Amino acid sequence: MNSRPEHPAWNQALAQLQARVGAQTFELCLEPIALRNIEDNLISLAAPSRFIKDWFEDHYLAEVLVELEKVCGHPMTAQIEVDPELEAAHSAADDNQSPDVPTVSAAPTASETGVTAGGAPSEFAAPARRPRGLINRYDFSSFILGASNELAASAARAASENPGQRFNPLFIYGGVGLGKTHLLHAVGHALYERDPTTRISYISAEQFMNEFVTAVRQNRFDEFRSRYRNDCDCLLVDDIQFIAGRDRTMDEFFHVFNSLYEAGKQIVVTADCVPSQMKGMEERLTSRLNWGLVADIQAPDLETRLAILYEKSSRESLALQPEVAMEIAKHVKSNVRELEGALLRVMALAELRGANLSPEFVREVLMLRSDPQKAVTVESIQKAVAQYFTVKVADLKGSRRHRAISRPRMIAMYLSRELTRASFPEIGMRFGGKDHSTVINACKRISALENDDADTETALTSIRARLSPS
Ligand code: ADP
Ligand code: MG
Repeated sequence: MNSRPEHPAWNQALAQLQARVGAQTFELCLEPIALRNIEDNLISLAAPSRFIKDWFEDHYLAEVLVELEKVCGHPMTAQIEVDPELEAAHSAADDNQSPDVPTVSAAPTASETGVTAGGAPSEFAAPARRPRGLINRYDFSSFILGASNELAASAARAASENPGQRFNPLFIYGGVGLGKTHLLHAVGHALYERDPTTRISYISAEQFMNEFVTAVRQNRFDEFRSRYRNDCDCLLVDDIQFIAGRDRTMDEFFHVFNSLYEAGKQIVVTADCVPSQMKGMEERLTSRLNWGLVADIQAPDLETRLAILYEKSSRESLALQPEVAMEIAKHVKSNVRELEGALLRVMALAELRGANLSPEFVREVLMLRSDPQKAVTVESIQKAVAQYFTVKVADLKGSRRHRAISRPRMIAMYLSRELTRASFPEIGMRFGGKDHSTVINACKRISALENDDADTETALTSIRARLSPS
């Protein structure tokens, strides 16, 4: 009999999460995810529904990738497909599974193994070779247009239709969770669909820096140079603010930019603010980033929020009543990621409790965690930590590594994870655009120190008390 593929790295990642998320969430959102394959730097997974896939991607994928990188020794990307057959297999296997095995438990079907009975590769076994790192669902068709994002979205579309021409470079900026990364991926998908031979590099600025540093250290700079300067028709860089103040990386990016620009290649960059406001960014770079179009994304208005909710629920084949959508859209205003999170939470809890989805239910679920009087936010944590250690909030968001700053910063990240629902990537963004792996490492350090170091323990106790006086 076939057995479902297992992999120590995957098992370890799941076990890490299981320890943290609690049994109910683990059962609902993690256990149903099936490992299909791990090969080179690609892990292929399957989820029984789009709902679970999205939830997993939004909340846990980043952590899983960090764990995998540790075990495999190199960065991994994930590909997740929806396979409704899994659901049946999963519930059938529920009857005879051991409850505390942290691996997935359903028996595999032919389609899950990626090879059909005749040996011909199934659709899954032969995935289209999308550029590395692009998330499938971040394409133009799932991006809802509204006044808040119209300019950025139409420029992104134009850049993907006529790359290297009118909007080059295209610079998209805006706050956390407003769709910058989504648009960047959408450009990648559209270019790929237009011409699959286009060589597209999608990379976060932090990854760019890491790859650059590693290339230099391992004497493989030529490889790096040709990857980004020569063998690239379109460069998509996410969160460019990250490299501000990192001189050698800025210098290298400058040369990459020039090579591509001169060769008429399309460059799209996102950031959390306009080029000129990026502290520590070299003038010659900010001026280049201003050469093309600079487009902002603002928080969505009510209509756009409603449209996003409908889009999301119809993708998951969930019926969303107008009054329920309105209730959610009224509550969550400033961030599309939170809007999606709210919808998922409401849907998941309704399903779990067998409750009727009504506006009252939405209020009950959302008020539970967003009473503005009591809510602890990443910002309130940063303030409290800054006060406690008498440092500046700006230092917590900056990149100085002196212990007097880095310890409070790690503590603030740790408390953000503990006391808010923010994901690792989101916390990273709010700390000046750091990568999720930085946040995860900080959380681990502080979690270890909490038991071993009296100062850290005292700091945590008193900051927690400040944040929730009761
Ligand atoms: P950012 O990079 O600006 O922090 P993301 O691109 O990661 O934000 O977006 C956060 C989430 O919100 C993603 O799941 C994305 O698909 C969704 N989202 C943002 N804007 C839109 C939109 N206009 N239409 C549909 N989904 C959106
Ligand atoms: Mg982003």
